[in-house]
Amino acid sequence: MAIQSINPATGETIEIYEEMTQREIDRIIAESHAAFLDWRRTSFSERSSLMRNAASVLRANAEAYTRLMAVEMGKVLREGRAEVEKCATACEYYADAAERFLAPEMVRTDAAKSFVSFQPLGVVLAVMPWNFPFWQVFRFAAPTLMAGNVGILKHASNVPGCALAIERVFKDAGFPENTFRSVLAGSSRVDRMIENTVVKAVTLTGSTPAGRSVARKSGEMLKKTVLELGGSDPYLILEDADLEEASSTCVASRLINAGQSCIAAKRFIVVDAVRERFESLYVEKMRSKIMGDPLDEKTDIGPQARRDLRDDLHRQVVESIEKGATCRLGGRVPPGNGAYYPPTVLTGVRKGSPAYDEELFGPVAAIIAARDEADAARIANDSVFGLGAAVFTRDASRGERLAVTELEAGSCFVNTFVRSDPRLPFGGVKESGYGRELSHYGIKEFVNVKTVYVK
Ligand code: NAP
Repeated sequence: MAIQSINPATGETIEIYEEMTQREIDRIIAESHAAFLDWRRTSFSERSSLMRNAASVLRANAEAYTRLMAVEMGKVLREGRAEVEKCATACEYYADAAERFLAPEMVRTDAAKSFVSFQPLGVVLAVMPWNFPFWQVFRFAAPTLMAGNVGILKHASNVPGCALAIERVFKDAGFPENTFRSVLAGSSRVDRMIENTVVKAVTLTGSTPAGRSVARKSGEMLKKTVLELGGSDPYLILEDADLEEASSTCVASRLINAGQSCIAAKRFIVVDAVRERFESLYVEKMRSKIMGDPLDEKTDIGPQARRDLRDDLHRQVVESIEKGATCRLGGRVPPGNGAYYPPTVLTGVRKGSPAYDEELFGPVAAIIAARDEADAARIANDSVFGLGAAVFTRDASRGERLAVTELEAGSCFVNTFVRSDPRLPFGGVKESGYGRELSHYGIKEFVNVKTVYVK
């Protein structure tokens, strides 16, 4: 099997790579393990200074990485630059905070001394998606390496250029050989990698089916996993919301990364009292967005990352319309070889249709009617997913109450859109996965929480 870079804006093949053989992969894993045996003994200050170098390498090459993402998966330049900067920030954040997060915790017992020590586990395998091809990797790599583990990246098969560029970042930053490696391989190789005894833990960001498969194999091998899976984030628009601001925020959150974000707003649950007004504001703002070449600075939305994904999305839209939704904007596949899909708004979306029940991974908004606050919260939770959620209301305490006690999600935001931030934990409940990335919770996922008791 070949691993191919295909420009989704044009359909042209950029580069073809040979998939690594099982032998090559096994060798890389063995070399990583050997690197771990030294790396685990390095000091936090040594790791920190290398991690700061990684931030500098990212910033020095930001424009090249931005263009690479644009041609490999269609990300617009503005968003690509922000993504690279966010990766650099995360490297600096963990360079600063890792030692404090992993400091031994003294515990008073009957012992002369007892404490909890956080020790690295070894080789951590990361199976990553293409949608934020740099950010998803760095939010795993920065805490993992700072904790003294080593990382192996199996990136999505459509972003091999990004996978190799990221491996290079760590090399150029001066990390010892084999502390961070990329394996160019399809998903069929993942099970064998999990079976390898020196692989100690696995993190996957991707779809729910991929998560199930990795969880099954890791369960069989008794290896710890963190799963960051799909989402269908509900945004609740209550009758006392600032509709101008809420509609702008909801459009921005739906269209980030051409709609291909796990924490993009996907279902807009609007109470009847303000629904018509919200819908017309929303449709007009979606209409104003410019779809086009991701390399053009004026573009708001590039193509979808792959044509097959675009075609799946269109099928979900058609089926939702067949099941009673009204298409108020978009909903047609443009001609040409690019994987484009226009900003689309579906209103009157009903349970039993893909726009209600499934994740729509593209620029398609599903507007769902609710009678009142309680009905809106019920609909929000009527989903297999539980990644993010947002509430729009002028009454911040009302929003906070819903966020804390009513909504089934890993992150709940009030009057703004759900986003990831190195300082805050990130992850889901229900079929959106388990475990947390980022903050001190993230760095503690892949360590041995070791009790030491000295009599
Ligand atoms: P995907 O098809 O699940 O792919 C993600 C990664 O998993 C790729 O490296 C893929 O490899 C691999 N993979 C796929 N099937 C596998 C299997 N059976 N066993 C082992 N590995 C497997 O997902 P995607 O289309 O790239 O990304 C979109 C999905 O990711 C959406 O559902 C989105 O919500 C979710 N996502 C979640 C988060 C989060 O933090 N919660 C963030 C971003 C995206 P190949 O490319 O070689 O198939």
